[in-house]
Amino acid sequence: MQDSVREVVGYMGFDLHVHTTASDGKFSAEEVIQLAVELGLEGLSITDHDTVNAVNPALEFISRNRLNIELIPGIELNTEAGANEIHILGYYLDHNRKELLLKLQELKRARDERAVKILHRLEELGLPLDLNRVQEHARGEVVGRPHIADAMIEKGYVGTREEAFARYLDYGRPAYISRYKFPPREAIELIKRCGGLAVLAHPGLIDDQAMVAEVIAMGVDGLEVFYPEHSREQTSFYLRLAREKGLLITGGSDFHGPNEGNKLGAARVDRNSITAMQMRLTRR
Ligand code: AMP
Ligand code: ZN
Ligand code: FE
Ligand code: FE
Repeated sequence: MQDSVREVVGYMGFDLHVHTTASDGKFSAEEVIQLAVELGLEGLSITDHDTVNAVNPALEFISRNRLNIELIPGIELNTEAGANEIHILGYYLDHNRKELLLKLQELKRARDERAVKILHRLEELGLPLDLNRVQEHARGEVVGRPHIADAMIEKGYVGTREEAFARYLDYGRPAYISRYKFPPREAIELIKRCGGLAVLAHPGLIDDQAMVAEVIAMGVDGLEVFYPEHSREQTSFYLRLAREKGLLITGGSDFHGPNEGNKLGAARVDRNSITAMQMRLTRR
């Protein structure tokens, strides 16, 4: 019964862009896997911002419970090029490699320092926050502006994460502090050195679209073509671009939690995309 229903619905696919509490998601690795199983996904990739801390717990949870779901080790590296935020996804990278973990430690330290500066700025604006509360929202893991937003919501300064960004935390807003410089080229090279595939995340969200060609020229392996915020036109444009350049075509929801934007599985790819990724790795 269950299977015939699935056939009618169509492929259940893979969601290749998912966050957990290791970065700014609301669900733990275990909760995300559980939900993916309930939805009937064939697989997913956990792609936390600047951390792989949820990957081993997710793999252990799957094997301990003998779950029929495929987990692709992943990451989403937040980089900056001028005024543009460029996110680079990494798939199938060796998530236990020393070089990777050292770099991620450095990024975490830089994020902590940045959070302190943002809190100073907010205090000057008459919006004091307790650093400990921000760290508690981050559960001791990678601190991001969304956790500062959470602390602001708790204080009643804003109603939502979106409002916190729009009024204070976004580029050009009064409490914006630029990130520690991590250029996209370095992120791409790091992912590849660690045996992974580098994919440009949500190209449609990049302010300066000229950056898309630049990042492709830096040697990414693929484009995240399927993404909930991409319009139909953007999707077909990036699809054509990926084909023209011989790049992998990926997609995912950017799930952050039940009331945080897109639902798990809101964008997916089928097994052909996964096979193409694996073939590209073996050909390297
Ligand atoms: P950070 O890693 O501290 O630079 O924060 C960037 C992250 O904040 C992004 O990767 C998103 O997950 C989230 N974010 C960015 N813009 C917004 C927004 N306008 N509203 C809510 N969350 C956002
Ligand atoms: Zn995020
Ligand atoms: Fe992103
Ligand atoms: Fe993301």
